[in-house]
Amino acid sequence: MTSGDSGRATDAGRQDDETPDRWGAYPRLTPQQLSLLDQAGTRRVVRAGDVLVREGDRDRDFLVVLAGTVGVVDGYGTPQDRTIRVHGPGRFLDEIGLLTGQPAFVSMVAVQDGEILAVPLARLRDLVSRDPQLGDLILQAFLLRRELLAGQGVGLRIVGSRFSPDTHRLREFAARNRLPHTYLDVEEDAQAEQLVRQLGIPPSDMPVVISGREILRNPTDAELARILGVAPPSAGERPEDLVVVGAGPSGLAAAVYGASEGLSTVVLDAVATGGQAGTSSRIENYLGFPAGISGAELAERAVIQAEKFGAGISVPARATGLTHEGDAYAVRLVDGTEIRSRTVVLAAGARYRRLQVDRLEEFEGASIYYAATFIEAMFCRDLPVTVVGGGNSAGQATVFLTGHASRVRLVVRGDDLGQDMSRYLVDQTEGNPAVEVLTSTEVKQLCGQGGELEAVVVENNRTGMRRRLDTRLLFGFIGSAPATGWLRGAVALDDKGFVRTGPPAGADNVLETSWPGVFAVGDVRSGSIKRVASAVGEGAMAVRFIHEHLQNVGARGADLRPR
Ligand SMILES: Cc1cc2nc3c(=O)[nH]c(=O)nc-3n(C[C@H](O)[C@H](O)[C@H](O)COP(=O)(O)OP(=O)(O)OC[C@H]3O[C@@H](n4cnc5c(N)ncnc54)[C@H](O)[C@@H]3O)c2cc1C
Repeated sequence: MTSGDSGRATDAGRQDDETPDRWGAYPRLTPQQLSLLDQAGTRRVVRAGDVLVREGDRDRDFLVVLAGTVGVVDGYGTPQDRTIRVHGPGRFLDEIGLLTGQPAFVSMVAVQDGEILAVPLARLRDLVSRDPQLGDLILQAFLLRRELLAGQGVGLRIVGSRFSPDTHRLREFAARNRLPHTYLDVEEDAQAEQLVRQLGIPPSDMPVVISGREILRNPTDAELARILGVAPPSAGERPEDLVVVGAGPSGLAAAVYGASEGLSTVVLDAVATGGQAGTSSRIENYLGFPAGISGAELAERAVIQAEKFGAGISVPARATGLTHEGDAYAVRLVDGTEIRSRTVVLAAGARYRRLQVDRLEEFEGASIYYAATFIEAMFCRDLPVTVVGGGNSAGQATVFLTGHASRVRLVVRGDDLGQDMSRYLVDQTEGNPAVEVLTSTEVKQLCGQGGELEAVVVENNRTGMRRRLDTRLLFGFIGSAPATGWLRGAVALDDKGFVRTGPPAGADNVLETSWPGVFAVGDVRSGSIKRVASAVGEGAMAVRFIHEHLQNVGARGADLRPR
């Protein structure tokens, strides 16, 4: 076993030193907290070498080290296994996936003889509902640990070719769902080639995803989600009270308020929870988070909150149509399933626009991204990157990437950075010596080979002067379009494709669409303010209108005819 970042390996097979807690991710429980947990769990004596949790294990307890030390091991049992952390008495194990039902991405192995406390998850949930301080301590540590894991190249192994669209799809799915993963490119990585040969995988079965002991051959997103513990949506016998389409901030808010107020609630998302906000490195203007909050953390917290109140969240579940039948609506999914519900919240938001430049597809697999989170940051360590766009998302990405890339250039088509970007981001960008801002500039050409970007050629749209910028990764933040293609022929849309609500849709209340009982919230709504706070606010408001609608239906019977 080789050592990771956690300290000195004391002999060939073990590493006894506890990982220092530089990040605040491995807090030690107080004697009071330990004694509380002790009442809910079972103590177990362990011997050095005992495997407490194996990579891929799904049903597992919350484990606390009482005596001895436990190592967190990547690739346990393989020649490449690596101890990435060691925890001693008073520390607890695992990360956010324990709470969200995901399999373990690493193994946990006793380094020394000792004792652990195993608390069943249901008992833990019960305890933390009565001790929010303990709940917060665990949640905060778990969220941080996910971030650290993602940055360490552990977890799922996606093995494929950068030229394969399926490889691109799987990497995108893993990134958007914030799954710790590493990518092994058979085109250039001898280890990847060797692994494929060892496993006897023919080229026709590529790409593969390796999770613990399971090998998935070119899985669909749904198959991958299934091994990650996400249940596919199923059509219940009775209609739900509320189906929310889209699990961005607005949809998750509707789910939290709906489920907490007793509505049977199902949330469907085509790609991942968190929506656009989940692709943001740091949201600094959301109320209550003066130091900012990453989109990933906001999403994970909201998902846990919605599930706590009983909402069912399904990913991936792409809605392809909306119809009304009798006294209920039916949301049709891409696999043909129909979810029936008495009310629907459309929270499908908007999708990023792709850059308009030749050879884009060639580089999209490995060198072009439309999000800048800690997952993308992993790929750009000490490399020159270019960000395209003049809005807040481009500004945020630029500032964030300066902490990871060797050089960041921001290419803006307009001549004034302050035109579409908030003042605080303009200041952070322009005042940053690690950033070069190029206004009145557009990307004209992508240069590189084999899917790997080497440079971009940009042109000043006033002078016509061209410049070649060394660029290994290109980030596009050039706006978005409403995700409403699937709604054509159903609710009324405006001329840009956003969902009309309120009087323009013939409805009395501001969030109701042209179909009674169908509401639109957040970025997908015509005239909405494109902000996390307003999306969350609208999601919460919609639930109030849903109650009113259900009451009226109760009094007068359902009339779902379009207005
Ligand atoms: C990089 C970036 C940074 C940002 N930073 C900030 C910031 O700092 N502050 C701020 O206030 N705002 C910020 N924003 C804007 C903010 O993120 C959005 O306003 C907000 O996410 C809108 O939330 P929403 O729930 O309405 O839609 P979205 O976040 O777009 O979520 C919609 C969800 O619906 C899903 N979906 C779409 N179609 C379907 C379908 N057919 N079936 C099922 N699911 C579907 C999508 O997969 C997505 O998850 C940022 C945006 C980006 C892109």
